[in-house]
Amino acid sequence: MTTRRDFIRNSAGAMAGIAFVGCDLLAARDAQAQAGGTVRRREVVVSGRRVKTVDVHAHCAVPEAMALMGRKAEPQSLVMGQDRIRAMDEQGIDVEALSINPYWYKAERDLARQLIKVQNEKLAELCASQPDRFIAFASVALQHPDLAAQQLEEGVRKLGLRGAAIGGSVNGEELSDPKFQPFWAKAEQLGALVFIHPQAAGVAAEIPRRLKGNGGLENVIGNPLETTIALSHLIFEGTLDRFPGLKICAAHGGGYLPSYAARSDAGCVTFPDRCPKPLKKRPSEYLRQLYYDSIVFTPEALRHLAAEVGSGQIVMGTDYPFPWTKTAVDHILDTPGLSDSERAAILGGTASRLLRIKA
Ligand SMILES: [Zn+2]
Repeated sequence: MTTRRDFIRNSAGAMAGIAFVGCDLLAARDAQAQAGGTVRRREVVVSGRRVKTVDVHAHCAVPEAMALMGRKAEPQSLVMGQDRIRAMDEQGIDVEALSINPYWYKAERDLARQLIKVQNEKLAELCASQPDRFIAFASVALQHPDLAAQQLEEGVRKLGLRGAAIGGSVNGEELSDPKFQPFWAKAEQLGALVFIHPQAAGVAAEIPRRLKGNGGLENVIGNPLETTIALSHLIFEGTLDRFPGLKICAAHGGGYLPSYAARSDAGCVTFPDRCPKPLKKRPSEYLRQLYYDSIVFTPEALRHLAAEVGSGQIVMGTDYPFPWTKTAVDHILDTPGLSDSERAAILGGTASRLLRIKA
């Protein structure tokens, strides 16, 4: 009898060790339990009810796929191991929606096909080993849009992945470019959540000189700027009108866009010739149909994001293993002005619905 695991292993030739990630995680859990050293799992309760918390912004790496482009996982904590569940338990994260930041956008078609196959199968294997703790976004080779559409469909339908993770631009091209429409059409058709994560290289490639110096500006400013630009093009170029059923989640609270949304509306009033495409809504209204992670650091920023986009559009994110925050849960619990049902939705209810996570 050929098991699914055998199928995956055999179908990928050089993927020796595909089962090891899952087994490592299980072994780690058992070893911890036997040693009596199990980390106390934080169980999040809101108004007396246990909430299943979901982290939509959790990174990982598949070394076997990276090796195909001669790359190594950095930091090492991107590779799934025993520390992962311990950190989740400590922080009160029940489910991580894993994603991998694109490093393959320069790969030619055959390599991109092979790499994504290895990576998505490994992600599926990993999720299957701990189905109550992990789900994953499919990786797609968006530089080959028709291939990306196929990869998304296969990832969702055959491998049980829950959407796609993409960059904020593709080799300098905007996500609103008509060439990417086959991908957007497929995502809309499947009802799959598309997680847009910026890459410092996206903006830094265009304005590198201005982002040099102290502060890590290519990341702290460049990443949210990349998201701001990406979402703005999707609005102003009519992509969101063309595919009204798209479900998009933007990393880092949507970058700067929700902080200054009214300027996009005012721009079209002040300089109407710069908004030649008639949009179906005011630009800022599109923000209320997109989703955003909660990585905005202060209660005031989260309150403002909720005011601009609606609390029902916000989902929890940590950016693990990058140590931006260890208090994602408390950030949501402690932000004044949210009702308990809004907190429960941000902590996991909304993400569970979008990502088809069982209650
Ligand atoms: Zn991130």
